[in-house]
Amino acid sequence: MSDIEPAISALNAARKVVFFTGAGISAESGISTFRDKLTGFWERHDPLKLETAAAFKDNPALVWGWYLWRRSQVAKAVPNAAHKMISHLATTGLEVTVVTQNIDDLHERAGCVDVIHLHGALDKPICFACKRPVILTTEQLEVSAEGELIEPPRCLKCNGRLRPGIVWFGEDLPPGAWKAAVLSIKTCDVLVSVGTSGIVMPAADIPEIALAAGATVIHVNLVDVSLGEPNEMMLVGSAAHVLSKILHAMERPRY
Ligand code: NAD
Repeated sequence: MSDIEPAISALNAARKVVFFTGAGISAESGISTFRDKLTGFWERHDPLKLETAAAFKDNPALVWGWYLWRRSQVAKAVPNAAHKMISHLATTGLEVTVVTQNIDDLHERAGCVDVIHLHGALDKPICFACKRPVILTTEQLEVSAEGELIEPPRCLKCNGRLRPGIVWFGEDLPPGAWKAAVLSIKTCDVLVSVGTSGIVMPAADIPEIALAAGATVIHVNLVDVSLGEPNEMMLVGSAAHVLSKILHAMERPRY
């Protein structure tokens, strides 16, 4: 981690920091990422059969069962040291915004307040037809096994099927979330990009938006994902380990 000292200096000098997070930050909480070999969701499931509106129309019970299973996995998970360090940092006087591609709620459960979800949230289902937000009952949340077929409940207002409140492949990002994310990224001093492969667009453009606006970009990942730009730093290692290390070394946090 040769960039660790410059990264700590950049964070010490910063007034506003955006943490841009992906599935890798929740991996140490036991939630599978999409692309990591052996453990990724995509190793066991074809996303095109589960993560599109067309798939939902073709087989709503399969997609709803898959969604409820993922939601139950997230409910059992707890925030790890990386989620907690970000929320600690926000209590030290630094302006901290989290822009996440994740659909879990581990940032919020770690205590983060300013969290922008670019790809929606697992715990906020909506009606497929009228888009109304819905709260599921305990019985409607029950799932016994991965792969179980469960018919989605119907909307009480329009009788449409309920669907997960997440952004599927081919769908637009929530316009308000993207606008808010870009605004915070263009005005931050440092963007810390944690546990994202940088493949999913347009969220993958975020480090470049930050660099173009004059921010320093620090990547934290198990592998080198840097773009080779001068204002970038690459910290290779697990999110929990690297964030604990840099944030404990900073001047601001009082642990
Ligand atoms: P991704 O699966 O494409 O990439 C994960 C990245 O995290 C990889 O670069 C990997 O090297 C890195 N990584 C894995 N473990 C790590 C660790 N312990 N510490 C640091 N880095 C680690 O995920 P993505 O880039 O977020 O994009 C894919 C999509 O996956 C997103 O749209 C997101 O909504 C969705 N997704 C979300 C969750 C979740 O909410 N927890 C889980 C799976 C997938």
